[in-house]
Amino acid sequence: MKTIEDLDVAGKRVFVRADLNVPLSGGQITDDGRIRAVAPTIAKLVERGAKVVVASHLGRPKGEPDPQFSLAPVSVRLGEILGKQVAFATDTVGESARAAVAALADGEVALLENLRFNTGETSKDDGERKAFAEQLAALADLYVGDGFGAVHRKHASVFDLPALLPHAVGDLIATEVGVLKRLTEEVERPYVVVLGGSKVSDKVGVIDNLLGKADRILIGGGMAYTFLAAKGHEVGISLLQKDQIPVVLDYLKRGEESGVEFVLPLDVAVSANFPDTKTHAPVEDFEIVDADRIPATKEGLDIGPKTRELFAAKLADAKTVFWNGPVGVFEHPTFAQGTKAVAQALVDSDAFTVVGGGDSAAAVRILGFDETKFGHISTGGGASLEYLEGKQLPGLTALEG
Ligand code: ADP
Ligand code: MG
Repeated sequence: MKTIEDLDVAGKRVFVRADLNVPLSGGQITDDGRIRAVAPTIAKLVERGAKVVVASHLGRPKGEPDPQFSLAPVSVRLGEILGKQVAFATDTVGESARAAVAALADGEVALLENLRFNTGETSKDDGERKAFAEQLAALADLYVGDGFGAVHRKHASVFDLPALLPHAVGDLIATEVGVLKRLTEEVERPYVVVLGGSKVSDKVGVIDNLLGKADRILIGGGMAYTFLAAKGHEVGISLLQKDQIPVVLDYLKRGEESGVEFVLPLDVAVSANFPDTKTHAPVEDFEIVDADRIPATKEGLDIGPKTRELFAAKLADAKTVFWNGPVGVFEHPTFAQGTKAVAQALVDSDAFTVVGGGDSAAAVRILGFDETKFGHISTGGGASLEYLEGKQLPGLTALEG
């Protein structure tokens, strides 16, 4: 892969596909990690006299403009981080975008509006995607791929556009891939993986590949309940994917055969209602129960104190740790304790620690941890998981040629 250093960017319009998909609440950015992560790439291009055209998606709009998913607040924050004005185009390939790009002097930056305001960005139809990519290509001379969080997507700006312009990999993707290589090639052992979060089906798949690599797999978050159900326990109204039970049983069996230890919760924090993560209203019926004693009317929302200790012990001697997915509903303080304990165990260990996933990375920062105490905080959740699953990532393949 070519890097930015291999391109002659001075005076050229350089399209940077970034991942600026940050969490927003009432128009406010609640975690700017992804903006800060790609800022050095943009700053480098600025320094080299490029006309920088930045583009990203945000959220999941339905292929048309939707103000709640506007990148406008991101352009302000990006400007603050870069310490320079960022022009904002109110469309992606329309008049505003063309004008904003045409007005750029060398070393100036413009941000386009949300790429997913156009159906062509995510279309399954190759022709529709390519047509949109061609419109994007008209705005630039060169392409830099640096949206790591989106490289597992076969989208126009990620996959089709680099084929139309001379391209290079940005510094963020280069760093992320370097870290993932450390998790797949010559791993230092014990290698411990912590999996949590809410997207059970997305995450069950990675276990297949980890079975041949990790020494221990700690299961928390929503996924834990499918594991507990597979073991024959009542899980009440917890997140449960019944159709995944046979898959999970197969993993448990293969784990036993290959000496990979699955560590499941011993106890969990439950409530009859999903907590209010906005008002943080107190949870009146909060209780800790053993993992095989979840009441039928209650939902498991965090790991309990015995499990916090167990997980910390299983992480203590690790030399490599990969963590994806909060182990509880950390957005409410009552259910943040498990996630806090996992983060603390990573901080306390001597291992090379990698945190992957938008919410996991945000949790680490929101819970007040010092980012520098972790080996690497990845900007991609799905992308990291698919890499670890051994899949080809369209956005990386596209940068190879
Ligand atoms: P990431 O973005 O790090 O990959 P996910 O998006 O998969 O993580 O999951 C994050 C979400 O998982 C958080 O919003 C958290 O509230 C939720 N979560 C964690 N544990 C549970 C649980 N037991 N039940 C429901 N949701 C959970
Ligand atoms: Mg997430």
